[in-house]
Amino acid sequence: MEAYCCGIISFARIPAIPKRIHFPSDSNHHHFYPSRKYSTTSRLTYVKPLVFRGQPQPNTGLSSQCGNRTELLPASDDDNGDLDFIVVNFYSFNFIKDPEEEVAKHLSFLEGRDIHGRIYLNEQGINAQYSGPSKDALAYVEWLREDDRFSDILVQISPALNGHAFPKLKLRYKPSLVQLEGGISHLPLIDPSKRATPLAPSEWRKKLEAVHELDDASNSTFDKNYVLLDVRNGYEWDIGHFEGARRPDVDCFRSTSFGLSPEEVTASDPLANIDKEKTNILMYCTGGIRCDVYSTILRQQGFQNLYTLKGGVSHYLEKEGPQKWIGNLFVFDSRLSLPPSTYKKEAVKEASKTRPTSKSNLLASCYICGSPVTELRHRNCANIDCNLLFLCCIDCVKDFRGCCSLNCTTAPRLRPVLLGHQRYEKWHIYRDSNMQTELTV
Ligand SMILES: [Zn+2]
Ligand SMILES: [Zn+2]
Repeated sequence: MEAYCCGIISFARIPAIPKRIHFPSDSNHHHFYPSRKYSTTSRLTYVKPLVFRGQPQPNTGLSSQCGNRTELLPASDDDNGDLDFIVVNFYSFNFIKDPEEEVAKHLSFLEGRDIHGRIYLNEQGINAQYSGPSKDALAYVEWLREDDRFSDILVQISPALNGHAFPKLKLRYKPSLVQLEGGISHLPLIDPSKRATPLAPSEWRKKLEAVHELDDASNSTFDKNYVLLDVRNGYEWDIGHFEGARRPDVDCFRSTSFGLSPEEVTASDPLANIDKEKTNILMYCTGGIRCDVYSTILRQQGFQNLYTLKGGVSHYLEKEGPQKWIGNLFVFDSRLSLPPSTYKKEAVKEASKTRPTSKSNLLASCYICGSPVTELRHRNCANIDCNLLFLCCIDCVKDFRGCCSLNCTTAPRLRPVLLGHQRYEKWHIYRDSNMQTELTV
């Protein structure tokens, strides 16, 4: 069974070790450079990104199992390193009468176009994240927008730079556009009035600023009338989040249960014991879909004042820059971690003038020793049979030779320590060498 976690791509976890994440290994990941300006919303203007040649194609093997060990996906054999690749994300809750027929239409349009990713449709709408040369990737969006149902779809675009960010195309009917325990097919997703009130990035920013001003005046950690709710996973929060947002005690979005246990007040639930009628809940996630889904559940639970960040963090970073945001944005494709400059380079410069840099650097800690991590990017355990995705300080990278634990350092199938933003290649590349023992960081 394939889970579709987080609305973008599913992501595995280890139930017994909540702070750790599995991530498949057979992908090369390279330096990610700030892009030129992209318009990612209503207009589909596109500026050619900086393309770095001579680097291997990322063979993304992302996990498709939430709650289990990593499932490796086949690597891509394409060689499109010379083209301008982008990653496109969009979703729309809209009634589709015959989703199978719709799938066939989409497949037919994409025939002969170089699109990799996950595009799922059902009676409730469409959820898509894919990579491709800009020409093909944008043609698909334009084609979709010709359909009245999807003409106002909010599209997020970011540069891929190293070719495809997904291993292959999966375009099909899927019973749930977002994987959540209990399913979502019964939820009134198509009716916007049943969801949280969407706030444009500028409105969201104003609200956060107002809350923080009150905050400064009252010396409390956050205005009591507000809860800033990060509707993502803990490991995403670790590398970046809005100021004042608590780390969600969740390893996989599908098991999120904030606000659902009125009888017991649990310490890990930011919505426990709050006034459902008076408290304003500001919800955010990467691209908006998780909030749209989860807010319908919270509404059913009686929460009255629900607000969500329209288009999620990626849209916010593009429109407002990193104001009130700390760190990077975790993404569910081979790029893993994007600095805010990916979305709005100029705004990052402005923000750094007004904000002490130490604040943005000191948020993540090493999963092994707990010391601060300045590199806001997860790495895979060097033991291919573990392959855990984890945050690690440079000392522990050296001491544990790229492994996540002492146990893994003595495993039979060890890969070399990776430097920088590289991702591991296929196992056979390392199989016949003794690189692990020879390497130093
Ligand atoms: Zn450490
Ligand atoms: Zn390990």
